[in-house]
Amino acid sequence: MQKLEAGIHHFQANYFASNRALFEQLAVAGQRPETLFITCSDSRVVPNLITNAAPGELFIVRNVGNIVPSVDHGILGGVSAAIEYAALVLEVGNIIVCGHTSCGAIDAILHPERVAHLPHVSRWLGESSNIPRLIEQRYGTLGPEERMTAAIEENVLAQLENLRSFDFVARRLDSGALKMNGWVFKIATGEVFDYDPTSGQFAKLG
Ligand SMILES: [Zn+2]
Repeated sequence: MQKLEAGIHHFQANYFASNRALFEQLAVAGQRPETLFITCSDSRVVPNLITNAAPGELFIVRNVGNIVPSVDHGILGGVSAAIEYAALVLEVGNIIVCGHTSCGAIDAILHPERVAHLPHVSRWLGESSNIPRLIEQRYGTLGPEERMTAAIEENVLAQLENLRSFDFVARRLDSGALKMNGWVFKIATGEVFDYDPTSGQFAKLG
């Protein structure tokens, strides 16, 4: 906590002092973010840092496993509220779902028995309970590490599909008002990979 307090002081004396006009303008004009950024709660994923985005540029939803429950049969709550607000009020032009390497949630999705003693985690990750079967079917011959990578990627793609289950998202995608991207952030190298629907592969950005 002391470290965080010292951090606040550092922020105010440095970043805020240098960008005071931006904050004052944002306070008066309100936010107009271009992007809804959906990622994992993992502390090693820092959206503004990895995209060099300024305050006011990313509308962020974080949860365990960067999951978007389907509107048809999922747990509706904070995630769906944020998507609705971002799409219909803020009218964001992009939605990014960003998974990451060594994600504890994906490990738990592949091995639900490891979190059986955590009822809230188990229930939440149940939203991606179709992933293990899919990995078995498509990547059954791969080793554990490659399977983990595949599960991280497939989980991102599953959330892009779930986003489409919201009629207002589907409408805006079809009209071209909205674009969606699926990313994976590689913690050890700082690289970001973007899903290319044409090749069916994740390709390095930047
Ligand atoms: Zn994670």
